[in-house]
Amino acid sequence: MTQNTPIEKALRAVRATIVSASEQAQRDPESVTLLAVSKRHSAEKIRVAHACGQRDFGENYLNEALEKQVELADLGACWHFIGHVQSNKTRKIAEHFAWVHTVDSLKIAQRLSAQRLEGLPPLNVCLQINIDAEDSKAGLAPDNASLLALAVEVAALPNVVLRGLMCIPAPKNSTTAERDTFSRMVALQAFLNNNGLSLDTLSMGMSDDLDSAIASGATMVRIGTAIFGLRT
Ligand SMILES: *Cc1c(COP(=O)(O)O)cnc(C)c1O
Repeated sequence: MTQNTPIEKALRAVRATIVSASEQAQRDPESVTLLAVSKRHSAEKIRVAHACGQRDFGENYLNEALEKQVELADLGACWHFIGHVQSNKTRKIAEHFAWVHTVDSLKIAQRLSAQRLEGLPPLNVCLQINIDAEDSKAGLAPDNASLLALAVEVAALPNVVLRGLMCIPAPKNSTTAERDTFSRMVALQAFLNNNGLSLDTLSMGMSDDLDSAIASGATMVRIGTAIFGLRT
């Protein structure tokens, strides 16, 4: 039924890109998780992707995500929140997601930890880094010392697990520039891990810079358009 649907073909192509980019970088393709970004796409499309073996889905808008989760409750999918986290939304996010990629303050992390439902495993979180220091973007400054201080506090919270770092870089006009940006993320993660943390996740790479992200060390790539098509 789902054979040869556009989504099935697109997923196959994205997975093939992940495999070839990983092999070129002498990395195990299994070390890269594909997160299908389904914002502004229907529950039905998510169902098709799930039938093609896709398990991780990323959503940016809480209400839209909650509606789809109700419709798709039978799938047992793994939901990732990748939108900006407002503090009045943390309770629902803590209750309904397995991952949050966009933590950018201690206050948000504390609220997510306090509001995580008992009985659920700890919430996996990443710190969002404003890697190109853009005024228009959320995220933490890519500064070793301040990041370490925050990471230590987040890692100590009881109901979240600090898994890694996430970024949305400014568009670049060359592969070299893309890789340079991603490499600064790798260096930040290495700095934190050399100072007592144990982060295993780098959430970076979207439809347009997937190859560079994998070459640099991404462990989770967030792909929307290349799987589901243009958003309406
Ligand atoms: C929309 C979005 C993506 C996916 O972007 P595409 O260009 O459609 O692949 C990835 N990450 C975040 C944070 C997003 O908001």
